[in-house]
Amino acid sequence: MPISDDLRDLYQQVILDHSRHPRNYGELAGDCAHAHGDNPSCGDEVDLWVRFSPDGSIEDIKFSGQGCAISQASASMMTVKVKGVTKEKAAAMIEDFRHVVTGEGAVRDEDALGELQLLEGVQKFPQRVKCAMLAWRALEQALAGARVNPEWGRRV
Ligand code: ZN
Repeated sequence: MPISDDLRDLYQQVILDHSRHPRNYGELAGDCAHAHGDNPSCGDEVDLWVRFSPDGSIEDIKFSGQGCAISQASASMMTVKVKGVTKEKAAAMIEDFRHVVTGEGAVRDEDALGELQLLEGVQKFPQRVKCAMLAWRALEQALAGARVNPEWGRRV
């Protein structure tokens, strides 16, 4: 189904807004998970810090990075949506988001992703899928307890 012009405009607005005014930008200090990812084919980098509450939910999350608008907007939007959720829910959102950007598999919880679903526009561009997934792969590492692993981003 072709994306309507209205949806394409909204996609552009949301990407530009988050890439120009990233939410939760910065670093967390103290006891937290820290993962790094890069996407050499596009020059994108993301560093992600995640602090978990005693019950295992994401208490706080921040990212810093540089690169294309899609990689940075995806990171910014992700931090907004996963703050406060449990690890289990965050893991389910990672899977759902992967389904959105690859077009493979059904999205189980559309409400949880919200405007992130606008990124389905990258489906037609495999290189852009890597940009959109970069922060989410870092989140996957953080959920697994990563402190920092500079190598993982180089494996594709
Ligand atoms: Zn990129």
